[in-house]
Amino acid sequence: MQVLKFGGTSVENAINIGRIADIIKETVTKGKTVVVVSAMGGITDTLLKAANLAAKADEAYKSVLEEVEKRHIDAVKDLMPVTGQSSLLSMIKKMCNDIGDICNGIFLLGELSERTKDRIIGFGELMSSKILSAKLQSMGLENEWKDSRELITTDGNFGKATVDFSATNKKIEKYFSETGSSLFVFPGFIASSKEGEHTTLGRGGSDYTGAIIAAAANAAVFEVWTDVSGMMTADPRLVKNKKLIPQISYQEAMELSHFGAKVIYPPTIQPVMSKNIPVWVKNSFAPEDKGTLIHNEPSKSESAICGISSINHIVLISLEGSGMVGIPGFSKRLFETLANANINVILITQSSSEHSICVAIEDVNVKKAKSVVDKAFAYEIETNKLQPLIVEKDLSIVAVVGDNMKNHSGISGKMFSALGKNGVNIRAISQGSSERNISTVIGTADVKKAINVLHEEFFETTYKEVNLFITGVGNVGKRLLAQLQQQHAYLLKNLLLKIRVVGMANSKKMIFNDNGINLQHWQEALDTGDELKLDKFSEIIRQRNLRNSVFVDVTANDNVAKLYDELLQKSISVVACNKVAASSDYNYYKKLKDLATEFSCLFLFETNVGAGLPVIGTLNDLVRSGDVVNKIQAVLSGTLNFVFNNYDGKRPFAEVVKQAQDEGYTEPDPRLDLSGKDVMRKIMILAREAGSDIQMDDITNHSFMPESCVKGSVGDFYKAMANEEAHFKKLYDEAAAAGKKLKFVAQYENGKASVGLQHIDPSHDFYHLYGKDNIVLFYTNRYVDQPLVVKGAGAGAEVTASGVFADIIRAARI
Ligand code: ADP
Ligand code: ASP
Ligand code: MG
Repeated sequence: MQVLKFGGTSVENAINIGRIADIIKETVTKGKTVVVVSAMGGITDTLLKAANLAAKADEAYKSVLEEVEKRHIDAVKDLMPVTGQSSLLSMIKKMCNDIGDICNGIFLLGELSERTKDRIIGFGELMSSKILSAKLQSMGLENEWKDSRELITTDGNFGKATVDFSATNKKIEKYFSETGSSLFVFPGFIASSKEGEHTTLGRGGSDYTGAIIAAAANAAVFEVWTDVSGMMTADPRLVKNKKLIPQISYQEAMELSHFGAKVIYPPTIQPVMSKNIPVWVKNSFAPEDKGTLIHNEPSKSESAICGISSINHIVLISLEGSGMVGIPGFSKRLFETLANANINVILITQSSSEHSICVAIEDVNVKKAKSVVDKAFAYEIETNKLQPLIVEKDLSIVAVVGDNMKNHSGISGKMFSALGKNGVNIRAISQGSSERNISTVIGTADVKKAINVLHEEFFETTYKEVNLFITGVGNVGKRLLAQLQQQHAYLLKNLLLKIRVVGMANSKKMIFNDNGINLQHWQEALDTGDELKLDKFSEIIRQRNLRNSVFVDVTANDNVAKLYDELLQKSISVVACNKVAASSDYNYYKKLKDLATEFSCLFLFETNVGAGLPVIGTLNDLVRSGDVVNKIQAVLSGTLNFVFNNYDGKRPFAEVVKQAQDEGYTEPDPRLDLSGKDVMRKIMILAREAGSDIQMDDITNHSFMPESCVKGSVGDFYKAMANEEAHFKKLYDEAAAAGKKLKFVAQYENGKASVGLQHIDPSHDFYHLYGKDNIVLFYTNRYVDQPLVVKGAGAGAEVTASGVFADIIRAARI
């Protein structure tokens, strides 16, 4: 015998019922078949809604019931030949009248018991199964409709009754031994108590009906037909990148479903497992898909785990106090109290100090739990041995499951570090002694992020999604976007990184798109975006709570730099082209570095010095490997190098500066370069990265700019430079006469730094420095006589963008 269960979506309307009728038609050729059906999709909820409205004396329940009737009538009319409709239609109408009568009673009395609810919602399965039975009949598939209530016996725990297996199994065995039919249709979900009252097996319980029948009748196979092509590695509604689990053990399936994988109702596995009946999860919308086989062999996933699941609406209750230490019996009393109040315990942790016991329960039970526990421990609470029950709400459980976990070490480490890197705060942890499941309790707002992060961590063949928020789409930002677009496929293929820009802002507008902004048309999208408010931009980034988020600052703006700390505190890495933060007050710089360490993310600013050149990265490598930096000498201004390389007294100095600005080598405000301030910032950043707590005041600036040039606006600055042409010419001529070149040099040694124009001799490393190149010489304990040299283009939008890009990749790969 084979038992097939079809879920709500599979019988949602006439088309779907027709589709499963075809599946059944094919299956019956293989032997005796039992079909179990759910109510039409959404009907159970709709019936509950009507009952609740009636209980509130709201007449709207009538129109809700009309909707229920219409859906069934429509299905019958669309499915059946006209000649076969009438008896079925009157049966449906009769049942709908019965529901109406019960609701009317509720309406009049203003009272709705769990018992009455079960009575009402049971009609959903009665109607759907009657329709399917008639449809099969009309196709020439003789079948016997059987009321499950006559076979499945439960206790009177309405809403989620417990099955009396010995009575039930006997009745089922007897039934099948006496009937000669070969095709049966059963309503799922419904049962009855010994007293004959109508009960239900709990929401989603039609799966259970199928399993109970399959086990009692010793079926060869149990098939669960639903709307997905099997059990997936994670809830497909939460994880786009989920994968099919081709086969899985009973225990694994049970753990996954207990911890929220809705595809199977948790109690379903037990009866079929006890009889070793294979279970297939199949898709009625894609019957050709293979599906998942649940049997008694562990999953063969390459990963140590087979799946990840989650349950929302969790509350943690904790009993804490010194009075518990060393005294046996507290946990027993706590669990007894909860059990007596019919409160199901989902997860337990106890600290080794025995100072607290922490239990996860469903939030619907929290009021009851608080009152019964505080009452049970009233004496201890009053005598200060225990605190009143502590309650934490809005939590969820996320569990990773797999039989193979016990053969792998480091699973929990991997799990916690992946969550930690993404700023997911873990409130409680539990690992079963079977080592088949590690569960964590986290904030509900973090669930989607956590599941996706874990999925990326454990199912490595899939890609890692990285979410960028970019501020500043000027010269460098534009190039960065173009490079991101160009490299998208490469990164996906070679580094398994799917980098998406999910937020973007310029100085006026901001846009967000969780699916990734189209990088071909970002400009149009941004133009029609919302007005930029920086605090709002940051707030939205934090609220979005996307995994692997990176904030990219390609502005030169002071206020943007002020957002970093709040972002780092959410474990969002910051990649800054903007120098403001790293060159701000030492305490803010230090705070940001510390925050990045504390919250397991990165604060990267390679392009602050030498654009795309690997200056800071090299310095970091030296320091991390134990080297000590004794001296740094550098030409760090691409602008000044360009200006002095191109100025020969023939063309006005101001014009050469303008050219540097036009070609995109200068800071947005070129005075920052010409005054030497930008170079001061850069040498300070290098000194800090070398371990110094240097401030701007510790740096001497031997500026070559006349006083008159540093006042007023950028326009005034150009005019003043033109007026001072003789001064610049003199600087050039003096150097040229001595056979030397002018270079603006930065130097750091012993906690002090200075910047200024120097005459460079042809024998010096700095002499042959062309165009907008930068050069940095690191003298260290290891590089004593010959410095470590980094040299190359130190300005320009394209190379700067590529430096930012490289930092983004670093941040993405932590
Ligand atoms: P039915 O009405 O057929 O019983 P359900 O809605 O109860 O269907 O269960 C199927 C749904 O379970 C899927 O549509 C899917 O959204 C959800 N689901 C949650 N976790 C998983 C998982 N790990 N694998 C497959 N589906 C899952
Ligand atoms: N119809 C019931 C519910 O929606 C049972 C089921 O579909 O499995 O919960
Ligand atoms: Mg279901």
